[in-house]
Amino acid sequence: MSEGPSILFLKNKLQRYKGKTVSKISGKTEVDESLFNNATLIDIQTFGKNFLFVFKDFFVAVEVNLVGNVLVNKQKKVIAHFSFHFDENEINFYDSEISVQKGKPVDYFNFKTDISKPEFDAESILSEFQIKHADEKIGDALLNQSILAGIGPIIRTETLYHAKIHPESLIKSIPEKKLIFLLKMVQDYAEEFLTLLKTDSVEKNALIFEKKNCPKDKTPVIIETIGSTKTYVCPKCQKLFK
Ligand SMILES: [Zn+2]
Repeated sequence: MSEGPSILFLKNKLQRYKGKTVSKISGKTEVDESLFNNATLIDIQTFGKNFLFVFKDFFVAVEVNLVGNVLVNKQKKVIAHFSFHFDENEINFYDSEISVQKGKPVDYFNFKTDISKPEFDAESILSEFQIKHADEKIGDALLNQSILAGIGPIIRTETLYHAKIHPESLIKSIPEKKLIFLLKMVQDYAEEFLTLLKTDSVEKNALIFEKKNCPKDKTPVIIETIGSTKTYVCPKCQKLFK
């Protein structure tokens, strides 16, 4: 499963296609091809785990499950879900959700929920948690992209460990101070994650994600499955609030 900062990192590498004219589109996702006749790609943005390709009156949102499903000038053996073709280049998206929307991304997405955006608003997330998701497990809520956009399994594991909160804790039972700290961690770690990607060292620097023992007390790390995604927990450091 992808993480928001990985999408942002790749987006920065795609910036060279900004200002280029699309020669055609292809792929197994049905979209209105006439929209793309000589359309100029004005901007590439992200929202959470979505790439946003912005044109004059519309944009294409591409949500990818894995960063490895985006190939530039390379193809897999299967048909891509969606491809942009430029004069001599192409960007191919595999195993992705594509949607074409009229208007601007800001009309569709609440940038205040994106962990990598300057607009990120921890206070509104905190009230969303406490009012609408109080009975849910924090481990589930963190991956819910409609509450917080851009958290994947690594960010969830590492930030809950830093905040010393067990992922099965119920939101209503977690002290408010701890939730505030957790949201601050999410924002800080997303920034660190982006920096670590530049040297390909996210996993090396992770404290417990895919590790055997807690670095602090050497307790064996436990793998828990929350939702359908694995998370790593130190049962000694991380308190279960229930
Ligand atoms: Zn520990």
